Amino acid sequence: MTPDNIPDYPKSPSMGQMMHQPMLISSIIQHADRHFGGKEIVSRRVEGDIHRYTYRDCHKRARQMANALEKLGVRMGDRVATLAWNGYRHLELYYAISGSGAVLHTINPRLHPEQIAYIADHAEDSYVFFDLTFLDLVKSLAAHSKTVKGYIAMTDRHRMPAASGIPNLMCYEDLIENSSDRYAWPVFDENSASTLCYTSGTTGNPKGVLYSHRSTILHAYASSLPDALNVSGREVLMPVVPMFHVNAWGFPYSAALAGAKLVLPGPMLDGQSLHELIEQEGVTASAGVPTVWHGLLHYVERKSLGFKSFRRIIIGGSACPPAMMKSFREKHNVELLHTWGMTEMSPLGTVCTLQNHHMHLPQTEQEAILQKQGHVIYGVDMKIVDDAGNELPWDGRTCGNLLVRGPWVLESYFKNGDSEPAQLLQDGWLPTGDVATIDADGYMQITDRSKDVIKSGGEWIGSIELENVAMAHPAVQQAACIGVFHPKWDERPLLVVVKKADAEVTRDELIDSFAGKVAKWWTPDDVVFVDALPVGATGKILKNEIRNRLRHHRLPTI
Ligand code: AMP
Repeated sequence: MTPDNIPDYPKSPSMGQMMHQPMLISSIIQHADRHFGGKEIVSRRVEGDIHRYTYRDCHKRARQMANALEKLGVRMGDRVATLAWNGYRHLELYYAISGSGAVLHTINPRLHPEQIAYIADHAEDSYVFFDLTFLDLVKSLAAHSKTVKGYIAMTDRHRMPAASGIPNLMCYEDLIENSSDRYAWPVFDENSASTLCYTSGTTGNPKGVLYSHRSTILHAYASSLPDALNVSGREVLMPVVPMFHVNAWGFPYSAALAGAKLVLPGPMLDGQSLHELIEQEGVTASAGVPTVWHGLLHYVERKSLGFKSFRRIIIGGSACPPAMMKSFREKHNVELLHTWGMTEMSPLGTVCTLQNHHMHLPQTEQEAILQKQGHVIYGVDMKIVDDAGNELPWDGRTCGNLLVRGPWVLESYFKNGDSEPAQLLQDGWLPTGDVATIDADGYMQITDRSKDVIKSGGEWIGSIELENVAMAHPAVQQAACIGVFHPKWDERPLLVVVKKADAEVTRDELIDSFAGKVAKWWTPDDVVFVDALPVGATGKILKNEIRNRLRHHRLPTI
């Protein structure tokens, strides 16, 4: 691939005179090789064993893979898909595909096979790389795909599936072995597309978010700052958030940029496997959605275990239950860092860390701040507005629709037409679909997704706050709050609860536990106990589905 579209900058006295070096993803792995070449990347393989090598090895194999892609005929801008867990081969593809000018399309394997087929077709993927776990998924994809020219199993020769029926099936390690590691990373416009990720969308077809090299690098820089995710060369980072979900929140880039040791947990995300890896590899920080941390907490408590080096969990994707934050801090000396973002934001928007003027506050007040979704990181701007688009005050009480803008925020969805920004954006701001408050210090707190807000007598009730109160009850494992029909108030809150194993609690006890914690009229009208809550492809509770299942629930207050 050759540089063919770098813009020529005018040389004039009004322009700065610094070098015009495009910000390209390949520069990150070159930097990691040159300056932290010996730092380790440790992966749990699909087979369950541990693989370890260095950033230098990763760079070498990424160059070999870039040569292999060229031989396969992959050109600048072509989409190349992955269906893979967090592992070293996936990391190599992050650099080989984007670095060579093609577009890495990470597919979420937890989506419905029909949605996967739709996505691969919409993206016009040219090749699909896959972990063997997803062999059946790939077989069904191959039966439908119109654009995919070949499939590459991310394994070595002796593990290749026999007679799979998959057309043009290749072996990853064969491609590496047969390719030279002499490869000069091409230089092109930093605004070129680098990565494509589809939103899981609970309704309608998933929509593609197309990141650029520039947006990815700016996001990696900003997310590494101390008051952001604090990524440094002293950390051992274990991204549990999948590399198929918004680029694992940028860690494959920020860890390499800072020279952090990387630990990639593969498919085994249960409490025991994560604890083993954390202890064996000296993991200092990890990141993922709350459900994963429930599993880990439950495991260490059941087995009366602790942590030697583990100090930080970066949590996002759904609201962090304060009770979990407290347990990790008080019992295990692990801090939970609350973050918020979305696929459309690469994903990081806010992080909750304290400022110096908070340091003298009593612990309970500090804890109350740390439960918020936090402060924007530099590069993102946010505001809350009413339904007519008027900006609302930052008083920590007024709820409004949350809007964002910034250089790593989506302007329009992939292949959705040029006219879309005008329809999608509000005066240049992206509506997030979240409802939030912002306090005088700029700390944002999500009260709901706009479609999940409970509307009672014309007033909004925030379901997240009710769920947090329920989760603080010692017998509650998981809770979700939805609005159900009420003839007088339109909607009233209904609490849906999964009890902890062997724990007992009644409906009335749970309802009583809200006394003094929320306004009286916010108290749920009823409780339904269930065995499990439905969870979507990115580990979030599917409230739509709960609403569907319970749409005929008759409240006792009617
Ligand atoms: P996704 O694009 O799948 O990452 O989903 C983005 C959405 O997840 C946001 O718009 C929020 O509704 C939700 N979300 C992300 N982080 C948080 C958080 N810390 N608290 C509450 N909701 C969150």
